[in-house]
Amino acid sequence: MTQPKMNTAIHKSRGIFARLRNSPLFFMPLLLVGGFALASLAYTLIMESDAGSNHGRQRWVASAYQNMNAGNAAPSAASSNPLNIWKPDNPHQVISAVKVASSNTYLFNSKKTREYFSSTGSNYDLSLDQWHYYFQARGAKYLDIHDADLTPTLKPGILILPSTVVLSSKERSAIQAFEKRGGSVLATWATGARDGDGEWAGYDFLQKQFDIKVSGEFAAQDKEKFLIVSGETPVASSLPSGFRIWLGLADVHDRPLRVSGGGHIAGRFMDGLRIPGKVDANEAIVYTESGSSRRVYLAFAENSWRFEQANMYTLLDDVLDWLRRRPDTYLANWPYPYRAAQILEMDTEQDFTKAINFADTLDANGFQGTFYSLTSVATRYPDIVRHLERNHEIAYHGDVHDAFKGLPRETQSKRLDAMQQDLRPLVTEPSRLRGFRPPYELADQVVESLLFEKGFGHILANADGTEAMLPYLSPVSPKDFRNGLIVLPRTQRDDMNFNAEKFSTQDMLKAMQDDFDLAHEYGALGALSLHSQHFELDTPVAKSTAEFLSYIKSSRNKTWIAPSGTIESWWRNRALFKSELSGSPAKMQLDITIEKPGMHWSTALVISNPAKGLQPRIRNKKIGKTLPLLVPLDDYQTAIVFNALEPGHYSYYLSY
Ligand SMILES: [Zn+2]
Repeated sequence: MTQPKMNTAIHKSRGIFARLRNSPLFFMPLLLVGGFALASLAYTLIMESDAGSNHGRQRWVASAYQNMNAGNAAPSAASSNPLNIWKPDNPHQVISAVKVASSNTYLFNSKKTREYFSSTGSNYDLSLDQWHYYFQARGAKYLDIHDADLTPTLKPGILILPSTVVLSSKERSAIQAFEKRGGSVLATWATGARDGDGEWAGYDFLQKQFDIKVSGEFAAQDKEKFLIVSGETPVASSLPSGFRIWLGLADVHDRPLRVSGGGHIAGRFMDGLRIPGKVDANEAIVYTESGSSRRVYLAFAENSWRFEQANMYTLLDDVLDWLRRRPDTYLANWPYPYRAAQILEMDTEQDFTKAINFADTLDANGFQGTFYSLTSVATRYPDIVRHLERNHEIAYHGDVHDAFKGLPRETQSKRLDAMQQDLRPLVTEPSRLRGFRPPYELADQVVESLLFEKGFGHILANADGTEAMLPYLSPVSPKDFRNGLIVLPRTQRDDMNFNAEKFSTQDMLKAMQDDFDLAHEYGALGALSLHSQHFELDTPVAKSTAEFLSYIKSSRNKTWIAPSGTIESWWRNRALFKSELSGSPAKMQLDITIEKPGMHWSTALVISNPAKGLQPRIRNKKIGKTLPLLVPLDDYQTAIVFNALEPGHYSYYLSY
C-alpha cells in the first residue's frame, strides 16, 4: 500500500490526541510494534467468534482490548494532567485522564468528491478545512489520506469520511475490510450518496453502515435549525442535556439529512424551543458498534460547524474519544436510578381554591408537586395553604401579580419582604419556603441577586438564560452549586401555551407526554407549569393533567418526579462529589472526594464501555471498604452506583 503522508500541520501538543501521539513509537511503522500486532490478531479473533455465544464474544473483546492497551499506550508527560480542572459552576465537564493505546486517525481527502463538489460550483476544501482547523486547535496529529491510500490494507484506526459524497466500489470494499479488522468510522452528511463516476447511488452506504433509514434532506423552510444534543450519552457527555447548537442553516448550502431508526441517538435536529412530535426522521448523531468496528454518523455537513465552533469541538472531542475506546466517566445528572427529572408545579393565584383539585390529582398518583403561591391571595385561604403543605412544597409567586423585572432594586426588595411576611405565618415550616417563581416569568438580575441575599434557594424561570435543559447558577450569585442561587428553567410548554394554541384535551395530553418523553430521552429537567385558574374540574387542562399523571405513573421510565426544592437540594448535594479516573485500561484508578456533609442520595458515576457490553471490574484500593455496585445502563455505558457516602476520600482500581 501507499504509505499515508504525515500531515505537516502538527501543532504543539495540548489536546487529547496529542497525548497519545507524542510517543516516538508513533513514527515507526506500526506493524513493528508488538502490542499492535497482537491487537490486530485479537480483532481477527473477535470477528471469527462473532457467531459464538455472547459470553464468548465478550471474552474475546476483553482480551483484544487488553492486548491493545498492554504496555504500548506510550503516554507523554502531558497525559498525566486531567483533561479539565473541576469547577464548581460547571458540573458537566468530563474529567478523565485514562491513557489508551495510540491508533491512527485518518482524514480521507477524496479527489473524486472534490471534483464532484467543483462540478456543482462548491469547494470541498471548505469542508476539509473544518477538520484541519479542529485538529490544529486541539494540537492533534492525524493523517491526510488520499484515494490511493484507502486500500484493504489500511491499518485499523479511526477513518473519517468528511462529507465524502463520492465513493467508488473499490473504496467501499476497502472501508469494509478496514472495519473487519477493527477500524472505526466517522462519516458525515451525504457520504457515499454517489458512485465512483459521481452518479447518484442513494443512501445505501449510510443505511448499512449505521443501521439507519435516510429519507432525504431537510428543506430550507423547515424549522429544525438547531442541533439538540442529548445528555448522558457516551459520544456527547461533555455537553449538558438538551444543549442547543445553532447550525446556521439559512447560510448553509448542504442541508442536513433526514435520518430515523438509529439504535443509539445522541442528538436531534429541532427548532429552538425543542418542540417534539412534529417531525420524525430528525436524528442528527447516531452511534453503533458492529463486530469490532465502532461507527458514528453526523447527519449535518462540516460547513455548519463554524457558527458555534467551540461547542462543536467539544462534541467532536467526545465522539473521537468514544471511537478510540477511551473509558470516560461523568457524574449522572440525577440520583440513581433516575435518568431525568420532572417538576409538576402550579402557579397558585387567581381561583386559589382550585389548587386543591391539582393537589388531589397529585395525591391520587402519589406525586409531590410545588405550589408557587401569590401571597396576597394566599393570606385569604390559610386552610388551603395548610392543606397543600401536607403533601407538597409551598413556594412564592410574588406578593401581587405584577412583574418584578425592571423595577428599582429597593421596590423589588420591599416586595420580596412583603411576600415573605404574608406566607411565613401560614405554613408550619417557614424554613422550607425556598423557591420563587416570578409573575409572568419576568425577572431580572436585580431580583436574582436579592433572592440570593435573602437566602432563597432557587428561582423557577423561563428558559431564556440557558442553552440546556438542566438547572444552572444565576450569573449574579456565587459560581458554586453548593451555595449559589439555582435557576430551574421551564423548558416545557405550559397550560398558557396550550390554551393559546386552542388545544383540545387530547392535544394537551399529547403535548405533555411528548415533552415528558423528550426530557427523559435527554436526561433533562422538565417542569410542567399549570395555573390555578385553569383547574376547575372538567376543564381540558384538569382532565389532560389527570390523564398525564397516570401516564407518568404507568410508564415507569425512570424519571424522577420531585418538587422544585428537592431538585435544588439534589444539585447542591451533587456538587460535593468529585472524581477523577486515571491510569490505563489495564489498571485504572478512580479517586473520589466527597465534601462535607456527605452524599445523601444514591449517586451514579457513569463509565463508557470500551467495547460493546464490556464492563469494568472494580476493587477497593484499601481492603475492608464497601464496593459500589456496577449496573449496565446499556451496551455502551455502566453505572458505578454509590449509596450515600460519608465525607472523605475513596479509591478504587478498575480494569477490563
Ligand atoms: Zn402567575
